[in-house]
Amino acid sequence: MNRKDFVKTMAILPIGAAAYKLNALHNATQNFEATEKMPVLFLGHGNPMNAIENNTFTHGFENIGKSIPKPKAILCISAHWETRGTFVTAMEKPKTIHDFGGFPQALFDVQYPAPGSPDLANETQKIIQSTQVGLDHDWGLDHGCWTVVKFLYPNADIPVIQLSIDYTQPPAYHYALAKELAALRRKGVLIIGSGNSVHNLRMAAWDKMTTPGYGYDWAITANEKMKKMITEKDHQSLIHFNKQGREFQLAIPTPEHYLPLLYTLALQEKNEQTTFYNDELIAGSLNMLSVKID
Ligand code: ZN
Repeated sequence: MNRKDFVKTMAILPIGAAAYKLNALHNATQNFEATEKMPVLFLGHGNPMNAIENNTFTHGFENIGKSIPKPKAILCISAHWETRGTFVTAMEKPKTIHDFGGFPQALFDVQYPAPGSPDLANETQKIIQSTQVGLDHDWGLDHGCWTVVKFLYPNADIPVIQLSIDYTQPPAYHYALAKELAALRRKGVLIIGSGNSVHNLRMAAWDKMTTPGYGYDWAITANEKMKKMITEKDHQSLIHFNKQGREFQLAIPTPEHYLPLLYTLALQEKNEQTTFYNDELIAGSLNMLSVKID
């Protein structure tokens, strides 16, 4: 279609359809061609209040953002989107979800208006062969995603989609599923797992929240063991975390905050290094550890 025909077509379409046509045109031009390989990240998101603070953790997120090439799009696996089956968000404009309670209004007022990417959703659906991935139009960006991604890309100018965690499946399933995403790294897509490697809210010492680095002995041990396994690429031990003794059981009472770490590690290629950021325990039983693989 030449420009004149295009303008004519747009003129005869009703407004809604014209917008649709524009979107379709936009999508047709948003391609995922070969790029240099993007790093993979795991971000320890911790307290949602970080989103409106300026602290060592938010500086850590900013530093990670500055240390990597600007992606074409982001695919985020958040601890806070668990589903039966696997879904990707496929809307043009994902809403900012304030999926928490009891926080100040200022936190509920935060919007992260990054566009979605129906193209990347389709691409992700296509490359995952082991299961049928559903296209979701209801979710958006939950706080596991936006409270951290906002520090990497404060202008909200990079499209973001989320991939859900199928809560009916075991850790090895998630690790294998993540490997199917590998090709996206060479299409300019930044894959981010967002959770917390040590996350036991029931045991949290909330009165120690403001004591930097405060961690229970078991949390310190679990963190050190996990970092050793990550550095040594001992992913099998990390997949079988429930066989690693009492410290791991306390660190991972439920798997949803830990599984995003497995998604990230599964994408590590031979000769790729890991860099740790925000390696600090808070409130005794939470860990902000973030990992970059490149
Ligand atoms: Zn969380």
